[in-house]
Amino acid sequence: MRLTMDLDDRLPDVVEAARTHAREVDLDGRFPAEAVAALRESGLLGLTLPENVGGLGGTPRDLVAVLTALAGACGSTAMIYLMHVSSSMPVAAAPPPGLPKLLHQLADGSTLASLAFSEGASRSHFWAPVSRADSNGETVHIRANKSWVTSAGEADVYVISTLSADDEAGEGSVDLFVVPADTAGLKVASPWRGMGLRGNASSPMTIDVEVPDDFRIGDAGSGFGTMLQVVMPWFNLGNSSVSLGLAKAAVDAAVYHCTASRLEHLDQSLSALPTIRAQLAKMSIDLAMATAYLDVAAGRVSEPQDDTPLFVLGVKAASNDAALKITDAAMRVCGGAAFSEHNKIARYFKDARAGAVMAPTADVLYDFYGKAITGQPLF
Ligand SMILES: Cc1cc2nc3c(=O)[nH]c(=O)nc-3n(C[C@H](O)[C@H](O)[C@H](O)COP(=O)(O)OP(=O)(O)OC[C@H]3O[C@@H](n4cnc5c(N)ncnc54)[C@H](O)[C@@H]3O)c2cc1C
Repeated sequence: MRLTMDLDDRLPDVVEAARTHAREVDLDGRFPAEAVAALRESGLLGLTLPENVGGLGGTPRDLVAVLTALAGACGSTAMIYLMHVSSSMPVAAAPPPGLPKLLHQLADGSTLASLAFSEGASRSHFWAPVSRADSNGETVHIRANKSWVTSAGEADVYVISTLSADDEAGEGSVDLFVVPADTAGLKVASPWRGMGLRGNASSPMTIDVEVPDDFRIGDAGSGFGTMLQVVMPWFNLGNSSVSLGLAKAAVDAAVYHCTASRLEHLDQSLSALPTIRAQLAKMSIDLAMATAYLDVAAGRVSEPQDDTPLFVLGVKAASNDAALKITDAAMRVCGGAAFSEHNKIARYFKDARAGAVMAPTADVLYDFYGKAITGQPLF
């Protein structure tokens, strides 16, 4: 992966902290506090934020590089980092006037952010919140049941979607608000017990908060556009990177296992079996193809062209599915050994299941892509 900035000074310590604790984070289902502390320290929380607010001015390709490396070390840490970046970019696009220091704090590592979009009522259709906001002119009262919030109870601020309180914004219009974690009425509804990404604290949250009107991102009713035009390109690239970082780790681990594990009675390694070699080859080729597509997509987001929206839609679906297929094959070629909790492949397999069902889900993206190439409106 090409880099447009030097990450060599910042990334290794974070990857090391993530890798060191990944196993216990997964087994205990605990938040990866050490890796998140290293992320705060590294300056990478500001990777994609502009330099004039203390960010690093990194490109989509830089994000792909960081997330791919992080996911290979600890999927939970990578997803926590992705949700921070995905929350920071809409703030950068339209900083809330009531929070003048926020962008600097997101960039300097003092503030970890997360997105609270999904709701129990509209499920993965994040573009259609049913939660209510009522305005008295100066403050907004938001009531929402958010079904999954990564870093719930751990983040310092949450970017929350709700139906707009502004009647003039039109029916079904969406607003995005920044809600600081210490706001009264923000609660983690239950502990996170995921099958994979077991450290990322993606709990439901109940929200019954009053915040100043000027904590809103952009104009009243602009949330839908911000979700699609600002959040989705960064989230989809980043989510793809997590999928392919896990897939790469699975390929590497499977090649190692199959090369190192011996059939002593035959005096050969598992990789001497033609079926195993062929499976490893297919995994490696699938990974190479998906990685190349991701690189092109990142370039298209950096320098938009007419077909950029297709790449934004297609890359997440393709990367999610590639990761499902590759990690499934890794489990198969490594046999019963892969089932052991001492083996990292089972963790990659479990963590890789999340990407396809994170919204926009892979199936929704295939539908949107199909609509786009057949000239139908997406919504
Ligand atoms: C580990 C993890 C972390 C998460 N973190 C966050 C977070 O930080 N913030 C946040 O807001 N959300 C988060 N989510 C929620 C996520 O983005 C989705 O909203 C959620 O996974 C959807 O689950 P569901 O059961 O509601 O899916 P459903 O909406 O019930 O979908 C079920 C199935 O139907 C398919 N489907 C639904 N609609 C369509 C359609 N129109 N066309 C074709 N197929 C369709 C889906 O693809 C899926 O296969 C997280 C989820 C997970 C698993």
